[in-house]
Amino acid sequence: MIAERSAAGESSAAIGAALHAARLALASSGSADLDAQALLAHTLGVDRAFLFAHAEVSLSDSQSAAFQAAVARRAAGEPIAYIIGVKGFYDIELLATPAALIPRPETELLLEEALRQTADKPSATVADIGMGSGALALAFARHRPQATVYATDISAAALSIARRNAERIGVDILMLEGDLAQPLIARGLKVDLLMANLPYVATGILDSLAVSRYEPRLALDGGRDGLALTRRLLTQIQAVCPGGAIVLLEIGADQGDAVARLVQERAGACCDILQDYAGLDRIARFRV
Ligand code: GLN
Repeated sequence: MIAERSAAGESSAAIGAALHAARLALASSGSADLDAQALLAHTLGVDRAFLFAHAEVSLSDSQSAAFQAAVARRAAGEPIAYIIGVKGFYDIELLATPAALIPRPETELLLEEALRQTADKPSATVADIGMGSGALALAFARHRPQATVYATDISAAALSIARRNAERIGVDILMLEGDLAQPLIARGLKVDLLMANLPYVATGILDSLAVSRYEPRLALDGGRDGLALTRRLLTQIQAVCPGGAIVLLEIGADQGDAVARLVQERAGACCDILQDYAGLDRIARFRV
């Protein structure tokens, strides 16, 4: 009875009060303000500005219940993107489901580098290996409408999200299910630029990372040292990349030296390691 009464009390809260309560509930999330606003804006189907302009407007019972359910999920640690179902990447919005990794801002650097590398070659042929929800491939295709873009993923579930994302964004790329570059090799397809954000977290530390509680292991687990998939992809490079092609790989902050060595050994190429805005190794770049 008490619970019922308090639930009814909360349900008549105004936007400002609901946000305040949510901020307290999310205090440990590190971004309580923004999270509360994003969840409430999503629940009401409005943008953030609306919340500030209408702090006195009351929520309906069902809005209040939906908001509280969303806040409870966030408080339990679930990423915002999975709760609201979308995530912004560069200038596109992608559907986000537990079938694929949530796109990270660091990966936008790889996209920018791919765009830079094709600035004078707008009709380049490009592959995104392990596309997940399609962030790199779709954002690239949107900015290089004349390019031919192939994208692969071993996960049928990821592929189906990527296909829906392609439809939403309105770009047409060839998506193929299969292991790393194998679907391209099987069809004899070659590319001028190959990019990949493969799983690169070492198996041993994966369970200790919050990211593994909600995001798919398949998209994160890079084997014993995190580089198992990179090693395998490097053995396929010659078959898909003719001489002169550019390869861009997202890597872990502690993998720069190891990846540069691997690229030297397996692809016989000299590899630059680019850093992210935090000054951490993030992208391996080399020419085949
Ligand atoms: N950036 C992710 C993380 O550490 C890892 C992504 C990946 O393995 N490709 O949270």
